Amino acid sequence: MIDLRSDTVTKPTEAMRQAAYNAEVGDDVYGEDSTVNRLEELAAEKLGKEAALFVTSGTQGNQIAVLTHCQPADEVIMEANAHVFVYEGAAMSALAGIQPRTINGVRGAMNPKEVEAAIRPEDIHFPETGLICLENTHNKAGGTVIPLDNMAAIKDVASQHNIPVHLDGARLFNAAVASGIPVHKFAEQTDTVQFCLSKGLGAPVGSMLAGPKEFIDRARKWRKRLGGGLRQVGMVAAPAIVALNEMVDRLGDDHENAKRLADGLANIDGINIEEEVETNIILVNVEELGLTSEEFIQKLKQEGILSGSYGTHSVRLVTNYGVTKEDIDTVLHKVNQIAHKKLTY
Ligand SMILES: *Cc1c(COP(=O)(O)O)cnc(C)c1O
Repeated sequence: MIDLRSDTVTKPTEAMRQAAYNAEVGDDVYGEDSTVNRLEELAAEKLGKEAALFVTSGTQGNQIAVLTHCQPADEVIMEANAHVFVYEGAAMSALAGIQPRTINGVRGAMNPKEVEAAIRPEDIHFPETGLICLENTHNKAGGTVIPLDNMAAIKDVASQHNIPVHLDGARLFNAAVASGIPVHKFAEQTDTVQFCLSKGLGAPVGSMLAGPKEFIDRARKWRKRLGGGLRQVGMVAAPAIVALNEMVDRLGDDHENAKRLADGLANIDGINIEEEVETNIILVNVEELGLTSEEFIQKLKQEGILSGSYGTHSVRLVTNYGVTKEDIDTVLHKVNQIAHKKLTY
């Protein structure tokens, strides 16, 4: 199978498995797991933040951020297709008592003026704006890199109104590798950052939440409340350290493969690329083939290729560590056959 459903399907490397086997561990709730402590220091250093917290998932990292930044009945500003709005089961409403406020972005980027206009003035009727959430790369917009100056302009607005900014940087390292701008430059535009170790970086489990030390201390307590205080978790922190040390630069290979795939697909009649490909995500529209996304996905699956639905006619393909350049050529060959059959009926 060529698995293009997500970059979460990546399996741990040999070095990660060795690191897990050899990890020094302790009870992390007591702060005694030296491997976890090492990972948290490494992540904080890479992001240029004072401290970091190892969390079970990107969703948990984002939700702990919301819980730590906000009070119940606050409003949180986010892009209308943000992962925190679309794909986290309304967790911030369920857990933090938050009301989301969405803004339509352009390729995932919110207009800073619209963000400013959405900030609530003092009025007895209104909720308080408690947080602004950004996402980089933006998943639903097709893995787009949110430009640094857009983030800076929003940070400016937020600072003027004394509102914190959280970055859902599940794929922040993809943004950094694609743009040549180091992760800490992006992180500098926000108070707190969550990034995933378990996606393109290939670690089996986990995300990091980074920010000021005082914030991370309170976040640690929220993690405990949510049942996310783990024990000898150096077993999974060790592969994450390998991911951060060894798996960042190779994200460029995923981006190259994604471009190669998108360029090839663009030349196939009936297939349309929905967004310019900047990183490892490709959104393909199959409407002109007279197929729904589900029908197209089934046909690909029969050819040994896995993909995911992103709308009625929209299919998402994600390149990752387990997909080679040769696999890309196989996919192009198979899609060509599928399209040709459909169009010559
Ligand atoms: C995957 C993802 C998350 C959530 O990460 P999980 O580890 O799956 O909970 C959050 N934000 C974005 C943009 C993502 O792509």
